[in-house]
Amino acid sequence: MIPLDEALAHVLERVAPLAPRRVELTKSAGLVLAEAITAPEDVPAFANTAMDGYAVVAADTAGAAAETPVRLPVVGEIAAGHPAQRPLRPGEAMRIFTGAPMPDGADAVVMVERTERLDGGATVAVLVEVASGLHVRSAGDDLRAGDAVFAPGEVVSPGHLGVLAGIGAVDVLVHPRPRVGVLSTGDELVPPGRPLEPGQIRDSNRIALLALVARSGFEPVDLGLVRDDETTIAGAISEGAATCDAVLTSGGVSMGDIDLVRVVLDRLGDMRWMQIAIRPAKPFAFGVVGERATPVFGLPGNPVSSMVSFELLARPALRRRAGRTDLLRVETPGVAGEAFRRSPDGKVHYVRVVVERGAGGPLVVRSAGAQGSHHLTAMARADGLAVLPDGDGLAEGDEVHVLLLASDL
Ligand code: AMP
Ligand code: MG
Repeated sequence: MIPLDEALAHVLERVAPLAPRRVELTKSAGLVLAEAITAPEDVPAFANTAMDGYAVVAADTAGAAAETPVRLPVVGEIAAGHPAQRPLRPGEAMRIFTGAPMPDGADAVVMVERTERLDGGATVAVLVEVASGLHVRSAGDDLRAGDAVFAPGEVVSPGHLGVLAGIGAVDVLVHPRPRVGVLSTGDELVPPGRPLEPGQIRDSNRIALLALVARSGFEPVDLGLVRDDETTIAGAISEGAATCDAVLTSGGVSMGDIDLVRVVLDRLGDMRWMQIAIRPAKPFAFGVVGERATPVFGLPGNPVSSMVSFELLARPALRRRAGRTDLLRVETPGVAGEAFRRSPDGKVHYVRVVVERGAGGPLVVRSAGAQGSHHLTAMARADGLAVLPDGDGLAEGDEVHVLLLASDL
């Protein structure tokens, strides 16, 4: 058995980010930047008001208060998108609306709530003294032309899209979203919706793995369910390697398995067959196949194992393929809400757990149910995987680290 770290290092060394492509901004959400972004212009581009009110010369409001208002003639009205026709002179005010450009000569805005409209709007009574710059968003307040905005490796979030649109970007250089093929093989497997003949089981791994691929931000590609036939399996894997950026198979990687998947993969690719010191998901294979050196992940067949193997080994590697540099989930600390017993066996155990957060308290971690590698219902219920290092386990109240599965972290 080898430690998980070693298996992961082996995989990560052999998986490279996909070559960047320029895509329209509208297609870049969730992708990873492959270029540094610099602001080409000031944001905002011009000084404007953060409030509805009156643009003034701040010095003109000296001493203004509710009992001692300062009266100013209103010489214009400035709406967003409509700059003033002339500068503001000392002793004048202009009505101004949020987002409208400040008129030349004005250096502050009195919010409308601190004013009184007089003479049908021809005059304003200012009821408060304002400082120069009040409620003014100056040009370049958020970004100055030439500022470094985003770095390669950052994920394009909704906020990033807003900023990119705000600086006039129309396209952006990103790593494409990896297309990840998922293949099931086995004569015992039946596609969903068909009756079971004796000895058959339903193919549950494919739909679960496709959904994990999608939830992780990659594009799932269903490579189907193929019979245990060397030519058919070879065809499906070759096709996956030619059309996808990575391929996941499940089953046929156990010690002593005389499985056709293994025979075929060894023929098609440069594979390494591993026994990893974890439970579940001990058996695992990884290699590269075909002219495009497509990474192929041989996940174990047991339903829980295939999902855990995806989380611990495939997901980090696929994130690297997507251009991400934050590959591993953060281990979130919590408190064992019950004892987690185990025996020493040289492996780290990943226990399916439900996680609750009491009001303001720590995360409380409890078993999600039966922990066999075929017990898929506990996996379905699980919020996370609790990490139990080799040993006798944990007592109730001990600190426990959890990989939160539904989060992006
Ligand atoms: P293997 O790794 O091929 O020895 O398979 C281990 C277990 O996983 C066996 O009980 C298989 O029947 C089961 N299995 C393999 N592939 C699938 C699948 N696609 N869906 C559900 N169970 C599977
Ligand atoms: Mg098998």
